[in-house]
Amino acid sequence: MKKILSILCAVLIILSLCACGGNASCEHLEKQAATCLEPSKCKACGATFDEALGHSFSQGKCIRANCNEKDPDWINWYTSGEVAITKAEAEEILSIDFKKPKNVIVMIGDGMGPNDLVLTEKNKKGCFDFGLVLNLIKSTGFATTRSFNADVTDSAASGTALATGQKTNNNYVGMSPEGKPIKNISEIAREMGKKVGIVTNDDITGATPSAFTVHNISRKNYSELATSFAKFKPDVLIGQGYSQFADVDLSGFLVSKSIAEINSVLNLDTLCKKPFIGFFSEDILSAPSDTLAHLTEVALNRLKNDKGFFLMIESAGTDKAGHNTHIKGKVNSVVTFDRAVATVLKFMKENPDTLLIITSDHETGGVALPRGEFKLTSSLFTTDGHTNIDVRTFAVGYGAEYFSGKTVDNTDIAKFAIDAVKN
Ligand SMILES: [Zn+2]
Ligand SMILES: [Zn+2]
Repeated sequence: MKKILSILCAVLIILSLCACGGNASCEHLEKQAATCLEPSKCKACGATFDEALGHSFSQGKCIRANCNEKDPDWINWYTSGEVAITKAEAEEILSIDFKKPKNVIVMIGDGMGPNDLVLTEKNKKGCFDFGLVLNLIKSTGFATTRSFNADVTDSAASGTALATGQKTNNNYVGMSPEGKPIKNISEIAREMGKKVGIVTNDDITGATPSAFTVHNISRKNYSELATSFAKFKPDVLIGQGYSQFADVDLSGFLVSKSIAEINSVLNLDTLCKKPFIGFFSEDILSAPSDTLAHLTEVALNRLKNDKGFFLMIESAGTDKAGHNTHIKGKVNSVVTFDRAVATVLKFMKENPDTLLIITSDHETGGVALPRGEFKLTSSLFTTDGHTNIDVRTFAVGYGAEYFSGKTVDNTDIAKFAIDAVKN
């Protein structure tokens, strides 16, 4: 590190000398991006050049002293390699004669549009050697996403549609357009004696996990949402945003506050039957792409029981990346989601009485695929908002062919999943 810094210092001094040599006022310094250098003087003109030069990123972070800036475009493309599946293994699982489901799992790639998958397979990085495991699934189709009051849905209304089978207004979570609570699939699963799990790499109080668990007239009433989550007490609840729960009574939960702590409860089922709440904190766009898969494994392990469970797993990065027009983050988030899918498929190999439904709540970013040479650039985004193009559906398990080759509405997905939970 010292070596890098001293080389960097030398480069900076040379740069400043060159730059200031022909410009005594050093005006050029002011024109450049204000950033993170420790104050130091231009040897030629005496001006400080702490604002003269940009960040120097390495491994996603600026290496200059006292700078915490992160490279917005950085992706590690790292996985621990533990979440592995071969094409043969995946195909074997996908051809299992699945039984009537005891367990129902709904996976949502937030903001993940059809082109996101094409883009990710073209880019290859982070994918399994055969591509995306998602694309091996045979029962697949499309879903429409509009909300009750808008052509372009937000995550609250589409989350509500996917969790309850009913359309509502944007911004509403688990409430009808008239402002009345609508029963969601988690509540129905609990009535059926099943355990309930919610896993997200977004904040727990994000619109999607909220729509699957609680009821509120606004997705932005974070402290009310947090209180409602604690009241409903899912058997497993994993996500970000501990600060919103700081004043909430979590005494009935086994609580973890880091990924390491969450992973350490993997084998705790027999020791502690309490509901589990796991908080972590990470930048999901550049995080190792097997993080969500590990969290999923923890949830599956804790939820497994004789009466079955309902589990919702959300990967939020495909939405965040679209809003930030962060193309590498988009691709990394699809990979992250796909690895969690692989983890669920492996669970289904041992537990063929499981139904898996995979979809998105809407597309974010309007990702376009131009002709010609493939380049991963932010110009592939046509918007930084949501769009109303149809999203993909995938299903594995008993009755999965329902989704094959047709376009359903997002409310139909919920109705199908709720029927499965009730049986
Ligand atoms: Zn969304
Ligand atoms: Zn969004």
